[in-house]
Amino acid sequence: MVVKIIETINGLLPSDANISQVAFEGANIVLYTKNVDFFNNHNGIIKDIVKTIKKRVELRADPSLCLEIEKAETLIKKAIGKDAGKINIIFDHQRAQVIIEAEKPGLAIGKSGENLKAIKKNTLWIPFVKRIPAIKSKIIENIRQVLYANDDYRKKFLHSVGERIYGPKKREGKKSWARLTFLGGGRQVGRSSYLLQTQESNILLDAGINVAATGEDAYPHLDISELKINELDAVILSHAHLDHSGILPLLFKYGYRGPIYCTAPTRDIAALLCLDLISINKNETGKELYSSSEVKEMVKHTIVLDYEEVTDITPDVRLTLYNAGHILGSALCHLHIGNGLHNFMYTGDMNYETSNLLPSAATRFPRLETLMVEATYGGKDDIMSTREDAEDYLVGIIKSTMARGGKVLMPVLGVGRSQEVMVILEKAMREGKLDQVPIFVQGMVWDVTAIHTTYPDFFNSRIKKEIFHKDSNPFLSDIFKRVGSHKEMMQIVDDHGPCVIMATSGMMTGGASVEYFKHLADDQRNSLVLTSYQGEGSLGRRLQQGEKEILFQEGNRQLPVKVKLDIYSIHAFTGHSDRNQLMNYFRRASPRPKRIIMVHGDSSKCLDLASSVHKMMRIETLAPKNLETIRLV
Ligand SMILES: [Zn+2]
Repeated sequence: MVVKIIETINGLLPSDANISQVAFEGANIVLYTKNVDFFNNHNGIIKDIVKTIKKRVELRADPSLCLEIEKAETLIKKAIGKDAGKINIIFDHQRAQVIIEAEKPGLAIGKSGENLKAIKKNTLWIPFVKRIPAIKSKIIENIRQVLYANDDYRKKFLHSVGERIYGPKKREGKKSWARLTFLGGGRQVGRSSYLLQTQESNILLDAGINVAATGEDAYPHLDISELKINELDAVILSHAHLDHSGILPLLFKYGYRGPIYCTAPTRDIAALLCLDLISINKNETGKELYSSSEVKEMVKHTIVLDYEEVTDITPDVRLTLYNAGHILGSALCHLHIGNGLHNFMYTGDMNYETSNLLPSAATRFPRLETLMVEATYGGKDDIMSTREDAEDYLVGIIKSTMARGGKVLMPVLGVGRSQEVMVILEKAMREGKLDQVPIFVQGMVWDVTAIHTTYPDFFNSRIKKEIFHKDSNPFLSDIFKRVGSHKEMMQIVDDHGPCVIMATSGMMTGGASVEYFKHLADDQRNSLVLTSYQGEGSLGRRLQQGEKEILFQEGNRQLPVKVKLDIYSIHAFTGHSDRNQLMNYFRRASPRPKRIIMVHGDSSKCLDLASSVHKMMRIETLAPKNLETIRLV
């Protein structure tokens, strides 16, 4: 397909540019040249083109010119030196790129990028540096392996995405419109999924599962006539939690082969959680919802974006992700629709507060007309104690439990709360507020923590400073002990003295937290500390409501467990904004939105928040139900 934009670029290039190939990588345009001199000294010509066409353009050497791999490898190692620690070098011949994984990426890059400049000039390969996580992570290794092994496919896939973005419009000249259909997450927490349609594009925002529900209530309404999976142009993933990502691999099972846009940590954590969901599902129902090969497809089709990197995703929609402060990699998804027609932003889950780990959600945008916001804690009674009070409260619970020789079980969401709590406890023990006791971190939580050590740039400035300037990474403290096998779990329960145990799932709907609970529940010296949102019907919610005996089904027999341990709930470690923070966010978001849509909250909370915001701001507010469609323009 001859695409207009390529003709325009060709017209702007000098006659000796000797361009051998023009390829799209999503919305980015890559030119390959056979003229070494032009490659090394294009003196602002490419910059001028970028200015003229307002698209990202990159110049690379034609792969045939790149230095032989063995020689290039020697040169790269020499340029980087030993200070960067261990390095792995991976060549992507198709794209004339070389990926350098390094323990210390800053040192690999060199002062103002001097090492990379030297590598580029002397080898003609374009170097990229990625971090080797401080804690070994199988999932990061596997994901990178999938991407490296499929670089041929990736090149073709990214080109086809670009052809759609820059190709002819399907309905050129027709009147513009945009509408939004609620497939899940309307007046409920769980199975978030929204379909955004314009006259030109079909875009899915999130595709989550409700882990606390069973049967068809667990999934969003993917079978409605408005949604044709093979006509979807793009999927945007706000963050990795399963109530937003859990059925993404299912789209690939149904034949979707388009792009998923999200941040790099979101891709990695979502892959890990989806793989975990497969085994949880198999244990509970004997069936697999999807297989690991569909998770692999998901990874192969993901296009990662940095925060505030503007990118076209269809002919009439431009996407920008902003920090949402909820979990590592979580994003506010800002969509610029049509040429200035409408600006819509979906918050995903967000936290308008600097947490122990992350900076608070972004508030400034170029334009904003409709804001769709989560209302998990949007009810008028959802006022949380301060984070400091909650930290003291948690430290107090642990202290008194230790004093009577008990264990503290903390069911946590693998992602977010658990790392937040790890940072709090590490600090409390380092500062002597708590005696040092082992903190057992169950496998899944450990894996997620390892992913966190891959992306320290996403942390708030305090933690970044500790890691980059003081070389002290809280996650590497030796108070944390990894628990892998069932045998190790049993040793902790039977033999070990006072300790803290962190295990998934946070709502106790399955996983190791439930296994630990069965063994710890009938000892009054122990404590259970719930820090997550507890879904309707979940074991966590039943315990909060005071149930004194729980019947577990174990094969054919029933196992009654008496509940004698102390139960505490702490909400303030949540990655969500409470009612006051939401109201403050609406006041401070700039520009001020003209319409606010409430989703991702129990019915009463969505309705209450909608009516309060309407009274406060005198703007249109909505709390749609699932299967409703609203028109944006
Ligand atoms: Zn979430």
